Amino acid sequence: MRTVYVNGVFCPENQGVVSIFDRGFLFADGVYEVTSVLDGKLIDFSGHMARLRRSMSELSIPAPASEDELLSIHRQLVDKNALAEGLIYMQVSRGAADRDFLFPAGDIRPSLVLFTQTGQLRDRPAAKTGLKVVTLPDLRWARRDIKTVQLLYPSMAKTEAKRRGADDAWLVEDGFVTEGSSNNAYIVNADGALITRPLSHAILPGITRSAILRLATETGLTVEERPFSIEEALAAREAFITSASSFVMPVVEIDGHKIGDGAPGEIAGRLRAIYIDEAVKTAV
Ligand code: PMP
Repeated sequence: MRTVYVNGVFCPENQGVVSIFDRGFLFADGVYEVTSVLDGKLIDFSGHMARLRRSMSELSIPAPASEDELLSIHRQLVDKNALAEGLIYMQVSRGAADRDFLFPAGDIRPSLVLFTQTGQLRDRPAAKTGLKVVTLPDLRWARRDIKTVQLLYPSMAKTEAKRRGADDAWLVEDGFVTEGSSNNAYIVNADGALITRPLSHAILPGITRSAILRLATETGLTVEERPFSIEEALAAREAFITSASSFVMPVVEIDGHKIGDGAPGEIAGRLRAIYIDEAVKTAV
């Protein structure tokens, strides 16, 4: 059984309890981060902390603990669960208060919950075979830059993708791809340029995205941060996604159309290898 962290205590996972009045439960009034672990170390931890701070500040949720304390809790969870490779999920909600739409005034303590998930991140069969995605309308709210726990539409989209025999969904707004249901989306065009949507309220600023764009530029690739249409994606030489849990994953099919020659792209494969290499070197 896993050891989890709930509001100041480490306990067995079946003993972790949060109030039924928690606003995360009643209003999805909470934010989260997922940090990957390789060789027992945290990948891109400071990036995840910076985005957490921003998410909390956009929603006026006070910090439940200092960054040093959060790092220490992450490390203790890795140790207590002997986690060599996997993920740490961390959620901060506004806390418990009698049900009312208004943000509660005065003293309310944010809830802090963390747990681990074991899983292979480096050796994933999908990295060699590629993912199939379907496009679906982006029906999420208009502040996707805040990493809230309001994940109902992404859950519906992934479930619909699965029902259609695909692995995931790319979300589309006004004819342009915003991002994947839980990842950022990229294409490589016939000129070899890497194209991904620019940061705005329309997408989550991926921590992996930021590293990948830096590494792509360093390796001499042309990077274009601009919206791309479904038509452009279907005609692309390569497509791929990035996220903390998948690193870089090639996309080989969109809505049943093969991308490029239908095999994982060379640039996606190269960026995946470079990213993992650097992630391990800079892990804390
Ligand atoms: N977009 C969305 C909607 C996501 O849920 C995620 C994963 N949390 C990402 C992008 C990728 O972000 P990151 O690289 O920080 O995991």
